[in-house]
Amino acid sequence: MRYLSTRNGPEISLEDAIMSGTAPDGGLYVPANLPTFAPADFDGIDAIDHLAAKMLQPFFAGSVLENQLAEICTEAFSFEAPSRVLEEGGSSLSVLELFHGPTAAFKDFGARFLAACMVRIAASRKLNTPLTILVATSGDTGGAVAAAFHGKPGVRVLVLFPDGRVSSRQQHQLTCWDDNVTSLSVKGEFDDCQSIVKELFADRALSAEHNLCSANSINVGRLLPQSVYYALSSLQHFRKTGEQSSYVIPTGNLGNGFACVWAKSMGFPIDRIVLATNANRTIPDFLDRGEWQPRASIATLASAMDVGNPSNMERLRSLWGEADSLNSRLSTYSVSDAQIREQIVAEHEHTGVAWCPHTATAFYVYRHHLTDTDRAGHWKLVATAHAAKFEAIVEPLVHETLELPEELARILKLPSAFDTVQPTAAAVAQFL
Ligand SMILES: *Cc1c(COP(=O)(O)O)cnc(C)c1O
Repeated sequence: MRYLSTRNGPEISLEDAIMSGTAPDGGLYVPANLPTFAPADFDGIDAIDHLAAKMLQPFFAGSVLENQLAEICTEAFSFEAPSRVLEEGGSSLSVLELFHGPTAAFKDFGARFLAACMVRIAASRKLNTPLTILVATSGDTGGAVAAAFHGKPGVRVLVLFPDGRVSSRQQHQLTCWDDNVTSLSVKGEFDDCQSIVKELFADRALSAEHNLCSANSINVGRLLPQSVYYALSSLQHFRKTGEQSSYVIPTGNLGNGFACVWAKSMGFPIDRIVLATNANRTIPDFLDRGEWQPRASIATLASAMDVGNPSNMERLRSLWGEADSLNSRLSTYSVSDAQIREQIVAEHEHTGVAWCPHTATAFYVYRHHLTDTDRAGHWKLVATAHAAKFEAIVEPLVHETLELPEELARILKLPSAFDTVQPTAAAVAQFL
């Protein structure tokens, strides 16, 4: 399989697409074509890593990683993506829980798969200096990337986070790794962290000297594994009932939602795709008005979705076209902070389960925007993080102390260490 930029340009290999992140023309890498499957192609395959190896094989054909794909999948997919059935008279509803990985958010899938690929690509290139993964984070991405690359040979990680702007549990997940992971608290905003990363990458000499690599969410190596849990969950339901599944997906940069679009396009039994955004309305406004108007992000309770210029829209438009065409294929709704709070309380009263603020957007959309007719088939609401990661928001609403997932509890007990730096590229470069 060859990969090309959404803005065209030459076709390159999978390993080059993974190592370069974005294309030189500013576009995003996509596969030259999508393979298609029938459900029967996966008969007898139940485990997520085996399913991943089979469905991702065409994407790895001809790559230096082709023969290592099975082992990459086993290493990356070391935890499950279960569907929890919600019993509700008449409706057929479940929650696709994507928070059973080490840092309790769906980003573990992409980060672990990317790490497994990058380490092997680096080994095949016999580099003299280790790879340096440089990542700016507003919270969840940095933790997942640090956890995924921690202890891996031939690679180190430098994480930049905005001083005092991440939750205390998130900060702990960014700063507890030691060894090959260095965390820097940058005296500025997330945007400062991102500009510093861009500036360091733009310095070609520095970038070559340290083998700088990006692990951001538009890397094709993070998207591919995300399509696997849509494939698996839709197949599981199809095998039981012969029915397709529809999804409501909490959306920020559209990586998770777009992975579902890929799974549907590959022929998995997926019916409707509904995107739930927070008060950052760039995507719903585009579908309503037909004009793409990226803007500055606004801070909300579902902070991992605070994106004003969702990058993966470029991939979606290149696959499914402009607003008219998109409107016939998916729907999208925006959810306010007040509605997020209301829904966390309502679900907890209704079923006793506390959901995270991101997941609550999907519940709100399902309960308040879909009609009875819409809700006729089987729906899966996507749970993107464990509520205990956002305990400062959720616990006061549900009046209950949330139990920590085991792995998160383990991480939170590790000692934490980080340096604080001024928001300049020069200050950060000292740590390279
Ligand atoms: C990153 C994130 C999202 C948004 O996912 P996108 O791929 O950016 O749309 C939603 N929820 C949580 C918990 C996240 O960490």
